[in-house]
Amino acid sequence: MAAITKSFPGVRALDGVSFEVVAGEVHALVGENGAGKSTLMKILAGAYTADGGTIEIDGKPVTIDGPKAAERLGIGMIYQEFNLVPDLGVIENIVLGIEPTRGVFLDTKAAASRATAVLAELGITLPLDRPARRLSVAEQQLTEIAKALVRHARLIVMDEPTAALTDRETDALFALIAKLKAQGVAFVYISHRLEELPRIADRITVIRDGRAIETRATSALPQNEMIQLMVGRALEAHFPDLPQVATDAPVRLAVRDLRAASNVNGVSFEVRAGEIVGLAGLVGAGRTEIVRAIAGADVATGGEIVVDGKPVVARNPHAAIEAGIAFITEDRKAQGLVLGMTVRENTTLAHLAAYSRGPFISRAEEVGITNREIAELRIRTPSSEQAVKNLSGGNQQKVVLAKWLTGDARVFLFDEPTRGVDVGAKAEIYTLMLQLLARGAGIVMVSSELPEVLGMSHRILVVRGGKIAAEFARADATPEAVIAAAAGVAA
Ligand code: ADP
Ligand code: MG
Repeated sequence: MAAITKSFPGVRALDGVSFEVVAGEVHALVGENGAGKSTLMKILAGAYTADGGTIEIDGKPVTIDGPKAAERLGIGMIYQEFNLVPDLGVIENIVLGIEPTRGVFLDTKAAASRATAVLAELGITLPLDRPARRLSVAEQQLTEIAKALVRHARLIVMDEPTAALTDRETDALFALIAKLKAQGVAFVYISHRLEELPRIADRITVIRDGRAIETRATSALPQNEMIQLMVGRALEAHFPDLPQVATDAPVRLAVRDLRAASNVNGVSFEVRAGEIVGLAGLVGAGRTEIVRAIAGADVATGGEIVVDGKPVVARNPHAAIEAGIAFITEDRKAQGLVLGMTVRENTTLAHLAAYSRGPFISRAEEVGITNREIAELRIRTPSSEQAVKNLSGGNQQKVVLAKWLTGDARVFLFDEPTRGVDVGAKAEIYTLMLQLLARGAGIVMVSSELPEVLGMSHRILVVRGGKIAAEFARADATPEAVIAAAAGVAA
């Protein structure tokens, strides 16, 4: 790709980007949210048309005027939001819409047996009859890879493939990529997990503000330098200093002997105004289940949830919101972010009820509120009227936060607040947490990233088997001690 340019109304997404991938290479694309990575790859995949620039495949200039053209050129794209048909099974999804090869009519049966052969060859086992909507993220991803291979893809683009995978699934994906690489398949690999790049990428290209800033062999690009190139500035200390919790700070949230069918087996703790309590633990320990029960997303079957001294009686999300509890999860869609609606509509949505009960709020006021949040959270969007689906992941996450900030919640439950978010946006989310503390909020944070839990919590509660297995003050929490407590072994 040479000198690629692309503008959207109000944004110059790509400003003369040149980028190449060689056979058998994994080429990582990194950059902050909104840098232009996805746009560049959507142009390659024929989802967008570039305003300018040229593309060559195997040294020949090509025109990619749609997804079918890209497919014929051997380009397979696996999007962040998968493209499977929810009600179709694995094989049906793999063969769906395969173009008949030259002169030959489409033979679905042959395509299906080729799909089975590809899966077998790669050593992939999948529940073949299960509808896509019931596949795990990892299974959907494998289906997408098989789909690309059955179409003879020689270049596979993966947009943040490991964001929602467990460590084991990530290992399996990397093994599969290595196998395909050996067969000469090339990969473009977009990821925010910078620490995994040395394991997987041969070269790295850094994109910033719509430009390709640098391309280097992975071994020649240390992580700190990569981050500097990405953000265009040296980032201050990774985690901000946490202000002390005032000795007379009131208890914002008290949880007593909380139980829920979903692996919450008698949990008690308190969070004070200005305090962040981190929940650490292994996958499946019950951390998410605890915050879901507090948020009313799962029904608590026993125990007490008290906000500012008042018990929350009803066990549903609405009652939790009424009580001043905000729940921010990594699943942006499930949080009621309506992708087709604008930033303004989404920002004001959570509080429509309040707006309609309270004084009438005009469109102008809504725009004002939204613009304030856009500025405060540095949401990268051309305007409050942009559809949320056009924003990058990190910026969508900020819209979710904006939604809650316009309300008056005093207890914030964050579940994996920075997963799939770039380093710059991470720092901004941390700053925002400090602002919430300064307003007197109490925060519960679930995070699988140990440095984040250690760096951003006043106290750390280790969850194991749906119970609090250990508690550490910030000063005593070493990675070794927390891991040992999470695994149930002596440090
Ligand atoms: P990245 O993948 O690096 O996070 P994107 O390529 O998604 O970044 O976005 C680059 C810029 O282009 C952002 O400012 C984004 O808001 C904008 N953008 C991307 N797609 C669209 C679209 N369909 N309409 C309008 N703006 C878009
Ligand atoms: Mg993207």
